[in-house]
This record gives sequence, structure tokens and C-alpha cells, in this order.
Amino acid sequence: MIKTKVVATPMPKAAEILLDTPKKGQRPKNLTNTKLLTMAAPKNKNSKCAMKSCLFKFIIMMLTLYDTARWPIFMKKTFSLLNKNQRFELLNLLDKDFSNPKSELNFNNPFELLCAVVLSAQATDESVNKVTPELFKIAPDAYAMAKLSFDEVGAIVKTIGLWKAKSQYLVKLSKELCDKYEGTVPCDYDKLIKLPGVGSKTAKVVLNVAFGQPTIAVDTHIFRVCNRTGFCEGKNAQEVEQRVVPLVDEKFIMQAHHLFLLHGRYVCKARKPECEHCSIKLICKKIGL
Ligand code: SF4
Repeated sequence: MIKTKVVATPMPKAAEILLDTPKKGQRPKNLTNTKLLTMAAPKNKNSKCAMKSCLFKFIIMMLTLYDTARWPIFMKKTFSLLNKNQRFELLNLLDKDFSNPKSELNFNNPFELLCAVVLSAQATDESVNKVTPELFKIAPDAYAMAKLSFDEVGAIVKTIGLWKAKSQYLVKLSKELCDKYEGTVPCDYDKLIKLPGVGSKTAKVVLNVAFGQPTIAVDTHIFRVCNRTGFCEGKNAQEVEQRVVPLVDEKFIMQAHHLFLLHGRYVCKARKPECEHCSIKLICKKIGL
């Protein structure tokens, strides 16, 4: 009679089998002649399938991690060199510096704001504010702007960089607003970015300023301030834009865009940051300086 006992071992996929093993042509021995054999576990017939499955899961995981917006919270925390209290205090101090921060573009309604933001791409707010009073005088809404020719708009905005493309955008987006949204500006990100000349940054500025939505459109100033201070790290504006909102305390979520922007524009300047007079110099990590 053959007695078999399976004993767990530290070796993976292996078992030690204690058995009474008769050799070929021999009679079975009694229990005193038992042998301790180590036998490797049989190969898994589906090992190739398992490998493919692992590879597939690995690729999916890498694709998931590539989209940083989908990173789990514990990983997102690593995007900031400041802790929660430091981030709160930093925004609190900036809020004192720039109380009730607002856009420096002049506008009277969401349509005018949208046009002004489109014109402000790679141009200063000051230069935009010089041309918009005349433009909005003859085209105060989307219906009036849609009736203008490219040349008519271009003649007014030609002091601004990229004026040819921008004047076309203004007329085209106005026509689309009339056709699809009865001349109003939609307060929806996906709808906004489908308008001619409207990118992610423009859409987020409009949503934040005109509709009070908690968005942060990361421009060159905000990108610089976030990285220098250690508030939010990112290799480019897009990365910072994806990461920065969860790092902002709820109390400052509406103002954060303008607080970072104004601080970058007037204090933490690109070439000569005014660290000595900076209100957040004790918190700032001064990365890259
Ligand atoms: S301390 Fe200097 S680097 Fe830091 S935010 Fe202020 S100006 Fe910018």
C-alpha cells in the first residue's frame, strides 16, 4: 500500500512528497524504507496565456499612469513639495497681497470676455484693453460680430500679435455661437473648446472668470510660480494644470488662478524675482534659483 503525504515547503510551486516508492520490478517496501523526494510542481499549461495577461495588465497600468489626472491620491501628493498647511498659508498670504483679485482684461459680459481672452493669447492684457472698446462698440454681441468681415475686425485689432488669425477666430466663433447657442457663451468646457480659436486655457479662464467655476488655466506665470515655490511640480503647463487643482484648499479655489497669475506677473517675475520683498519667501522652496 502506497502512503502519500504532502508537506508545504518554502519553494514556490514545489512540494515534498513523502512516499513509499517501489522500484521497477521490486516489491513495495515497508514504511521504514520511505524516501523523501522533492518534486517540482508540474508546469502550467497556460503559462503563456498568463504571461500575455500580465503583459496586457502592465501596458494598461502604464497607460493609466501616463494620464496623471487618473493617478491615485497618494501619488498626487508627491507633486507638491509643500504640505497641506504650507499650501494653505501660501495662498492665504497671496490673498492678502492681492485682495479680491480680478482679471485685468476689460469686459462687460461673457461674450466680451471670450473675445478678449482669444485676443490675449501671446499678447499683454494692456494691449488687448486698448483695442476692445472700439471693437465692442461696433460688435457688442455675437450676432453683431458675426456680421463683420475679417478685414473689418482686423483693422481694429491689428496692433495685437497674430491679429490676422485672431480676427478670423472672432468672426467664426461668433457665427458658431449664433448657430448653436443662440448667441450666448456656453458654460461648458467641452463645448467651449470646440469653438474656433478657443483652447483649453481660454476655456478655463472663461469658466472661472465669467461663470465662477473652480478652474485654473496655467499660463507661463502660473507655471513658473507653481514650480518655483514647490506648490505644484510639472514639466509643462499641461502637467501643472492637471495636478494643481486638488492641491488648492477649497477656500481659495476660486481665487487661486488670479493669485498665482498676479504674483508671477508682479513679484515672482521670470528674470528678476523679487524674493526679498516677497510675502511667501519663508514658505517658497525657490526651486531653480
Ligand atoms: S521667494 Fe522668490 S522665488 Fe519664491 S515666490 Fe517669492 S519671488 Fe518667487
